[in-house]
Amino acid sequence: MSVFAEAGLEQKIRDLVKGAVKVGEPLSRHTSLHIGGPAKFFVEPVDRADLSAVVQFFNRRSTAVYVMGEGSNLLVSDDGLDAAVVRLRSAFFRRIAVQNNLVFAAAGVPLAALCIYAEKNGLSGCEFLSGIPGTVGGALVMNAGSREVDADQGAGRVCSMSQIVSQLEVMNRHGEVSLYAKEDVEFGYRSSNLKGMIVLGAWFRLAPADRDAIKQRGERFIGRKRTTQDLTLPSAGCVFKNPAESRHGAGALIDQCRLKGTVVGDAQVSTIHANFIVNKGNARFAEVKALMELVQTKVWEHCSVRLEPEVEIWGQGGLR
Ligand SMILES: Cc1cc2nc3c(=O)[nH]c(=O)nc-3n(C[C@H](O)[C@H](O)[C@H](O)COP(=O)(O)OP(=O)(O)OC[C@H]3O[C@@H](n4cnc5c(N)ncnc54)[C@H](O)[C@@H]3O)c2cc1C
Repeated sequence: MSVFAEAGLEQKIRDLVKGAVKVGEPLSRHTSLHIGGPAKFFVEPVDRADLSAVVQFFNRRSTAVYVMGEGSNLLVSDDGLDAAVVRLRSAFFRRIAVQNNLVFAAAGVPLAALCIYAEKNGLSGCEFLSGIPGTVGGALVMNAGSREVDADQGAGRVCSMSQIVSQLEVMNRHGEVSLYAKEDVEFGYRSSNLKGMIVLGAWFRLAPADRDAIKQRGERFIGRKRTTQDLTLPSAGCVFKNPAESRHGAGALIDQCRLKGTVVGDAQVSTIHANFIVNKGNARFAEVKALMELVQTKVWEHCSVRLEPEVEIWGQGGLR
């Protein structure tokens, strides 16, 4: 991949942006799978105005802009991206504040920090995010969530971002900012129509509760993840969505096909959680993709169920 699309482009972007600009930054450094080739530009704007300038700059040049949170739901091509990858990590994008029962968290706030903040302020509702890697922005776009199976009340209840978000601040690809009420956004199971927009931050409506009870509820979520998920090796969490047409989850279906431990190169179907693909060392993009395709084929052949990826694929075959 040519790093420079036009002479002087790098200098122009450096002159424009107050934040950090890297050229050819390996995305493997920023994804939880530790896979991904170089981004033509990797930009970390300092604030809203800086981000707007970046977006408009690349928009004028018809250069694609990808927004990255913690890269915990991404499979990125080893060939990298002929695009600008923007990450919101400055202090501005990590602001967090509370007013009454509303917590504002900017897009770059890690989910763990949101959980701790809410607990300190005696506010309950986001404990289901405990143990999920990622940022507020990425979690809103993915409508991240967990199933609460071991609480005293509400056993088996599905909890997701859409249930707690109240309002969002969003930037479009022209650098313009809008406020969206939750009702303006279409949230689905691990999906939203926010893809293609840039989430700047959101307000979450939580409920006052006893701090110890909040802490214990968060710990229950973390405890369950420790026992069910594969946290020993790099992964992107669940690779496939639970299929609507089956009463079994994707993991159970993959397990029924006896695929746990199956390897393609250094990519392996986790021996602990069948819906995780782990990187045993130097897994390549193509190996993970081939393993995903193998899993999809076997589950189709044995269970007549089509598995849809939950992880997002960047490059080579595009977004799915
Ligand atoms: C070990 C492990 C366990 C996991 N467990 C769970 C789980 O229990 N439940 C669950 O739901 N998920 C889980 N995940 C998946 C992942 O953590 C979530 O999907 C998370 O919300 C992704 O957030 P991120 O910031 O890493 O987003 P990224 O992976 O960086 O990006 C995901 C998507 O969000 C977009 N995006 C990111 N930030 C912004 C923004 N500010 N504006 C617009 N678009 C943006 C990206 O462009 C991309 O489309 C797990 C992952 C791992 C590795």
